Amino acid sequence: MDSKVTNHPQHGNETKTQAGNYFVSNYPPYSFWTADHVGEAFAALERTPTPNTPLGVYLHIPFCRKRCRFCYFKVYTDKDANEIENYLKAATRELELYSSKRFIGERKPTFIYFGGGTPSFISSRQLMGLTDRMKELLSWDAAEEITFECEPGTLTENKLRVIREIGVTRLSLGIENFNDHILEINGRAHGSKEIDRSYHFARSIGFQQINIDLIAGMVGETTHNWTDCVRKTIALSPDSVTIYQMEIPFNTTIFKEMKAGGETVAPVADWETKREWVKHAFAQLERAGYHVGSAYTAVKDPSRTRFLYRDLLWSGADLIGLGVASFSHIGGTHFQNQHDWTPYVTQLEEGRLPIYRALTPSHEERMIREFVLQMKLGHVSREYFRAKFGIDPQERFAQSLGKLQSQGFLEVDNGSLRLNREALLQVDKLLHEFFLPQHRNARYA
Ligand code: SF4
Repeated sequence: MDSKVTNHPQHGNETKTQAGNYFVSNYPPYSFWTADHVGEAFAALERTPTPNTPLGVYLHIPFCRKRCRFCYFKVYTDKDANEIENYLKAATRELELYSSKRFIGERKPTFIYFGGGTPSFISSRQLMGLTDRMKELLSWDAAEEITFECEPGTLTENKLRVIREIGVTRLSLGIENFNDHILEINGRAHGSKEIDRSYHFARSIGFQQINIDLIAGMVGETTHNWTDCVRKTIALSPDSVTIYQMEIPFNTTIFKEMKAGGETVAPVADWETKREWVKHAFAQLERAGYHVGSAYTAVKDPSRTRFLYRDLLWSGADLIGLGVASFSHIGGTHFQNQHDWTPYVTQLEEGRLPIYRALTPSHEERMIREFVLQMKLGHVSREYFRAKFGIDPQERFAQSLGKLQSQGFLEVDNGSLRLNREALLQVDKLLHEFFLPQHRNARYA
């Protein structure tokens, strides 16, 4: 779920939830990544790494038991065991091709992320085979964080043990809601019983960190139920809680149904209500001792619960993105894999990297990318941008920051720019202001 891709929303009628993405996960927009730049990606793979650039690996496991009605990820619910084996072979072949390239240098990955889809969909045997091979190709010895996204209903005790044994440090449970009726009408495959069972077992076998994902504004959500979800989350006492506000991109089942019925407004709460719900959740989590560390996350103990994948990626780490439709960032070039199954698997069977579109951002675009992503943390260090990009964000973005200040959203001091809670809860909407003019109304997909 962390690989959220973004279009920006139709904010004409800002309070209603209309179709479109608002979430900003990258910059420049994906519509500027094109096939004619793919050569730049291959060139980047042959260069030695920039000193002190951390390396990460992301693997997309695109299988789910059911397609949630709000899902806009590249997922498959109809693949048989053979096809899954072929996919995992293709992904390891992909890593093998990367592992001999110069951009790796002497580096070992600092962080590894299994995202989806549902990584926990694959069997224990497949998981062991996959990760053994990944470790042979690129050692996990230096990995400080290994994240694994799970759907509670796919977790047996044996599978959780295997996930623990392969070295996962951060287990992320896609709970989303605790109410069986709401889970069901949103098309989730799991129920509340599976939440309790999987959480408690995961806790008992000692994962370093357990994260719970929630979504504010699922179909059928009410203030009463949301309050209950927040209470149940706190009672479980996870190390971190991630909360997304429901959006309805164009490739979701919900949007298709809206279109068929001639509806322009999605059957979910409006933005103001969703923000109120997240605000309530953050306030309750803070009362329970948590710290709000970004627009979406609260952590119990910031000194021991980090989120390296996010923090390193948002400050310019290299990332090898394996799997169908995955995104990579290597040596200053962004690129994405083939986003359909057949070309992805076939090209790897032929021994070719399945890179489909790319872009090498300018120095300024790289700076903007890091700036907008770090704004999602709620604070940006001016010194970081002076040292890395030779600019002071306060001067470079004077006009846009001035607007935020006049709205009461931002405080500026010598060291940093700080968004208040109100701004943080709608940060994705505010970030487009910092884009270059040609990117402001761009299509993201
Ligand atoms: S669990 Fe649901 S939302 Fe998550 S990737 Fe699968 S279908 Fe999409």
